[in-house]
Amino acid sequence: MNVKTFEHVDYLWDDKKAASLEGDEVALFLYRSNVLGADLRITNYGGGNTSCKTIEADPLTGQNVEVMWVKGSGGDIGTLTRKGIAGLYVDRLRALKRVYRGLEHEDEMVALFNHCLYDLDSRAPSIDTPLHGLLPFKHIDHLHPDALIAVAAAKDSQAVTHEIWGDTMGWVPWQRPGFDLGLQLEKCLEENPDIRGIVLGSHGLFTWGDTSYACYMNSLEVIEQASNYIEERQGKKRPVFGGQTQKSLPATDRHNQAAQLAPVLRGLCSGYQKMIGHFTDDERVLEFINSQDLNKLAPLGTSCPDHFLRTKIKPLVLNLPANADLSDAAAVRAQLEPLFEQYRQDYADYYQSCKHPNSPAMRDPNPVVILYPGVGMFTFSKNKQTARVASEFYINAINVMRGAEAISEYAALPRQEAFDIEYWLLEEAKLQRMPPEKPLSGRVAIITGAGGGIGKAIADKLAAEGANVVLTDVAEDRIQEANSSFARDTSTYAVCDVTDDQSVAAAFKKACLEFGGADIVVHSAGLAISKPLEETSLNDWALLQNVLVKGQFLMAQTGTEIMRKQGFGGDIINIASKNGLVSGPNNVAYGTAKAAQQHMTRLLAAELGKDNIRVNTVNPDGVIVGSKIWEGAWSEGRAKAYGIKVEDLPEHYAKRNLLHKVILPEDIANGVFVLIAILKKSTGNTINVDGGMEAAFVR
Ligand SMILES: [Zn+2]
Repeated sequence: MNVKTFEHVDYLWDDKKAASLEGDEVALFLYRSNVLGADLRITNYGGGNTSCKTIEADPLTGQNVEVMWVKGSGGDIGTLTRKGIAGLYVDRLRALKRVYRGLEHEDEMVALFNHCLYDLDSRAPSIDTPLHGLLPFKHIDHLHPDALIAVAAAKDSQAVTHEIWGDTMGWVPWQRPGFDLGLQLEKCLEENPDIRGIVLGSHGLFTWGDTSYACYMNSLEVIEQASNYIEERQGKKRPVFGGQTQKSLPATDRHNQAAQLAPVLRGLCSGYQKMIGHFTDDERVLEFINSQDLNKLAPLGTSCPDHFLRTKIKPLVLNLPANADLSDAAAVRAQLEPLFEQYRQDYADYYQSCKHPNSPAMRDPNPVVILYPGVGMFTFSKNKQTARVASEFYINAINVMRGAEAISEYAALPRQEAFDIEYWLLEEAKLQRMPPEKPLSGRVAIITGAGGGIGKAIADKLAAEGANVVLTDVAEDRIQEANSSFARDTSTYAVCDVTDDQSVAAAFKKACLEFGGADIVVHSAGLAISKPLEETSLNDWALLQNVLVKGQFLMAQTGTEIMRKQGFGGDIINIASKNGLVSGPNNVAYGTAKAAQQHMTRLLAAELGKDNIRVNTVNPDGVIVGSKIWEGAWSEGRAKAYGIKVEDLPEHYAKRNLLHKVILPEDIANGVFVLIAILKKSTGNTINVDGGMEAAFVR
């Protein structure tokens, strides 16, 4: 096959790059893995594994031994490096046949893989290790391309496999990965010595080659052939998914509906653990959720184990019209609650009917994937990354159903098999090994004035403690730069003028679309104007009142609306100032506004306690370093006024407080964190972070 004929996969092999690795089979196998993983049509995220076998000198005997290098547990082939692989003696791995006791004792084999390690720096061998080890080929790919899973999930998968590849492709029925599946692959090859690969029913594909390149080409060709076969049949027998029974709303309306509904859904599925949301209106999703077959296919559940481990066995389909009036959140919630309750009940029934005596306890029964016909798909999980990946996996599942229905009929994995994967003791052990959740994991914080200084330090701290953060600022360049410092799936930003209700509403809408809502509001946007009474203009007065007081009011009002939709409370933290408590000359506009911020905190704490929304104040003072004003002419002016050098200013300010400490933006961020994560039974409170100022002691 000419490389140019590939239409359904990307041919990414770079001859020059490969030539530079010549002679190093492990490097060539890693290179192949990376180019395969770069095309999401070839394998889904974290799915599949690859291997090669080389001859190495045994460190103990000096004799040549065959070593298999295979992707270890976890990670993704697209980013696979030597650190992610395991090296095992092939003869020892094959000798495990002598101690294998049968399907009932599969799990004990995993511990034995460690006894086969050649490379002591190996990553833990995965459950798929024997699948590679019991086949004799030098280079092997095990991939989960949508097109192949479609073939594997077709009702008559074996016949379809034969129709596409004739006698050149083996086929084994669905079986949970493990030593026995390795034996089945070995047997399949023995009976069909001329095959180029094996289709695993309801699962994926094995392909191989003598060289890394031959293996790569074999994988690409097989995937291309399956894709062509599906494409030729797509929509021929009957329209895709039986045709469209409803239209999508226009894009803007879809986003408005999704943003309005997301916090309600987040509340409904956060009964066990606070969830983070993700929304997509990808056209592949819309084609599925607007179709005739939605109600037939969605309940069947996803097929490939990789899919349902992330998406749960089936999605929840909302019974709301696309253009439903969602303005009365309580009414919408009341309408949806029975639907969620039914889903949880179904999940509990699935658990009860499939569980074994030693099964782990039932996990969160709430849906991960929520489909809203005409609008799009929501996914909810414990963090943004897992919610996004669940969304990508459900799109894989849609592709699989679409392909399988075109060539045959889609068949889901039997419930018991799905359960045995989902509640596999080895999976449970993996979950138990995960690091503990961070204090603010599952929370979404929206922070004003986050383009720099105190606001940015607060965003950094809350994100470091596990929160997703929505950064807002009036200056687009500053907020973009601030946002770029966060890892993927951690933050988003909105250019927001806190004095404008529409602008504030748009920022919260962003939070709802990106993360499913918001439950921490920090008002840190501010500015300082210090003038005597007679010089304070109406503009000065209005600016301070608008940014500090009106901005805080709007953030609290809109934030509370979202938090009430979610129904699990939240935190509002207002960054005020010592100057709201201490009086002095030349500060009438600023000090009054700061005092108003502080009293608003108390008023709202009194009003919102019933909603479990806590409202508190942090009072900074003398934060010079890292602030906007520090860089400008202001610091030179102050230094001149005090008769000192600019670099001595922090020390000068430090001397004004009891502890003689320089107060940094990070100190204010710590105050915010303590109020949110530690002092969980405190509301209407004030924390001074100022090194100690007698005049500002709260009386
Ligand atoms: Zn697999």
